[in-house]
Amino acid sequence: MCIMEKMTLPGLPDLDIGNIFCIGRNYVEHAHELKSEVPDKPMVFLKPTSSVIFNGDLIRLPQQSQNVHHEVELVVALGKGGKYIAESEALSYVAGYAIGIDVTARDIQQKAKDKSHPWTVAKGFDTFAPLSSFIPAEDIEDPQNLDLKITVNDKVRQSDNTLLMIFPVAELISYLSGIFRLQPGDLIFTGTPKGVSPIVPGDRIEATLNDNLATLSVSVE
Ligand code: MG
Repeated sequence: MCIMEKMTLPGLPDLDIGNIFCIGRNYVEHAHELKSEVPDKPMVFLKPTSSVIFNGDLIRLPQQSQNVHHEVELVVALGKGGKYIAESEALSYVAGYAIGIDVTARDIQQKAKDKSHPWTVAKGFDTFAPLSSFIPAEDIEDPQNLDLKITVNDKVRQSDNTLLMIFPVAELISYLSGIFRLQPGDLIFTGTPKGVSPIVPGDRIEATLNDNLATLSVSVE
């Protein structure tokens, strides 16, 4: 894989990809399916920019894992940066929305959880952050009413609505900005609904936001 210089966000060419914040356990039924507690504040981890791929690219399963899962998620791109952003103002910082997959090495993550170690390795392999093109924020009326869907070889694996998020997008931005100085181009993977399951070589994956508003097609190698 080539070493990339700055990567601009597809659909938002004025923005280079910044930090990639991810939220764990932001849907109750997903927390339950992994036998995890429902958090009382957002659970935050990061992915490296080297994990990003786009439409038509390949998810490469790492040799270190025997159990890699898809997690379909709404992804937010920030157009403005800031610190201590009020929840009431937070959505005005969003430049666009995409559908993404928080690819996860579940076996490595489970071992990390058992030992209270960080999730960085389980979440951060190359190709573990596929992203669709971004839809400008002004074209999305309400980020808390978007259908997320993922099919693997044409079979639906996850299909839910962002209405079910425990911490909505505005609250996530406000919360993160109290910890990190947010910057234009920062991304937020907002958590996955129920239905995560393994992917194997040869799988064809399609993820969509509101049916065809944004579409992401990737294959697994
Ligand atoms: Mg996730």
